[in-house]
Amino acid sequence: MQHEKIIVMDFGGQYNQLIARRVRECNVYCEIYSYKRDIEEIKAMNPKGIILTGGPSSAYEADSPTYTKELFELGIPVLGICYGSQLMMHLLGGHVCKAPVREYGKIEVTVDQSSKLFSDVSEKTVCWMSHNDYIESAAQGFVVTAHTPDCPVAAAEMPEKGLYALQFHPEVLHTAEGTKMLSNFVYNVCGCKGDWRMDSFVETSIEAIRAKVGSGRVLCALSGGVDSSVAAVMLSKAIGSQLTCVFVDHGLLRKNEGDEVEEVFGPSGPYDLNFIRVNAQQRFYEKLAGVTEPEKKRKIIGEEFIRVFEEEAKKIGSVDFLVQGTIYPDVVESGVGGESAVIKSHHNVGGLPDYVDFKEIIEPLRDLFKDEVRKAGLELGIPEHLVFRQPFPGPGLGIRIIGEVTAEKVKIVQDADAIYREEIAAAGIARDIGQYFAALTNMRSVGVMGDERTYDYAIALRAVNTIDFMTAEAAQIPWEVLGKVTSRIVNEVAHVNRVLYDCTSKPPGTIEFE
Ligand code: GLN
Repeated sequence: MQHEKIIVMDFGGQYNQLIARRVRECNVYCEIYSYKRDIEEIKAMNPKGIILTGGPSSAYEADSPTYTKELFELGIPVLGICYGSQLMMHLLGGHVCKAPVREYGKIEVTVDQSSKLFSDVSEKTVCWMSHNDYIESAAQGFVVTAHTPDCPVAAAEMPEKGLYALQFHPEVLHTAEGTKMLSNFVYNVCGCKGDWRMDSFVETSIEAIRAKVGSGRVLCALSGGVDSSVAAVMLSKAIGSQLTCVFVDHGLLRKNEGDEVEEVFGPSGPYDLNFIRVNAQQRFYEKLAGVTEPEKKRKIIGEEFIRVFEEEAKKIGSVDFLVQGTIYPDVVESGVGGESAVIKSHHNVGGLPDYVDFKEIIEPLRDLFKDEVRKAGLELGIPEHLVFRQPFPGPGLGIRIIGEVTAEKVKIVQDADAIYREEIAAAGIARDIGQYFAALTNMRSVGVMGDERTYDYAIALRAVNTIDFMTAEAAQIPWEVLGKVTSRIVNEVAHVNRVLYDCTSKPPGTIEFE
């Protein structure tokens, strides 16, 4: 089935994935492409509407990202957001220049409620602004439909051609009625019906997988994380016993996690997955010995993973397809600096090597955002506690141990992390924190214990709150909880004499340490 589609053209803005997610929340399918995509390709995708994103450049400068004016003559509605709106005006003859007053943050905007874009939106509505340039005067034929004290053209439109421009960011939650505006665009302007729903996604995916696989054999890499679990259960519903799921315990999992995964997905669990557990701990530790560089560690882990799969596949006999839980943020192409038009999916999954010994890779979730994967998981009947698990990186504790990975260090970080998680749960604050874990710093320092000098490791505790994992803030965990965790870790975990709390937000930090 061909879904209605909205295309987001990426000019390098920070919130581009959010635009696509908001549109999808309106039940309309949406994909992101670089502004470098040729117009013929865009036309061939037959979109119901096109959204031009924000971006760091200035539309009036010669070397800024631009697009052919033909885009506005296709008879397809176009919504420009921030840079996108400025570019639209610049190309169509309006005047864009540096604003005398830059606007940043929540600003009250006065809108013309008779615009299709603002139907059901309050006349005075708070919107998120982030711009240095502005549209001084709209292009000929446009009517101005919103303004602020400092911004004469906060919105403009030429409804007969389906052209709409917004200086502010409707995709950001700080824009109180932003989702309403995007919904107005896709429904009232583009005429979408809203055919993107997770129940039908699951159904059509299952049919498509059946048709593709035929009588072939499929191997699924199951990590126990949300994405691969949803992929595995979907495959199992589609092709039953033709599927074999291999779970590699690389020795870099959280404490007891291997057994927990086996309990749910193994032979005594509710699913029929031909579950094979490979205990490959030693093999990974040997490969990682002496390696300290984060990218190299990721690559080694990713590569060893695929080798283990290949070996298992050979034992099963002929395997035709490999399943991966790649999701949309892994494959989305980026507008700025993206030399390669499409980032190859398998390069994203923990640095897999170029040569993979399977006929084809199946990625049933590659069109989905994380929240959609979760919805699909619930649709498939996977229990909530699995569907709402915290994200855990493919290279696992390998990147939560700074520097060289050894079996001893894995044990330290596993035990510290288990204590941290226990105490967070006991305090009843687990649901208030986006993600939290312990990491082992590569730092040793002097301490005193039982009147004796110690020279041991420092554990770092991380906890962040985030909506989309693209930006995050350090969570404010009550001091008593941190105190309890600290005293338990230094008492119960050998070779740790110090506990630090990471207060860094993202950016400039990342959520993981490596
Ligand atoms: N760079 C442009 C400006 O400063 C657009 C900014 C944006 O898209 N957020 O106005």
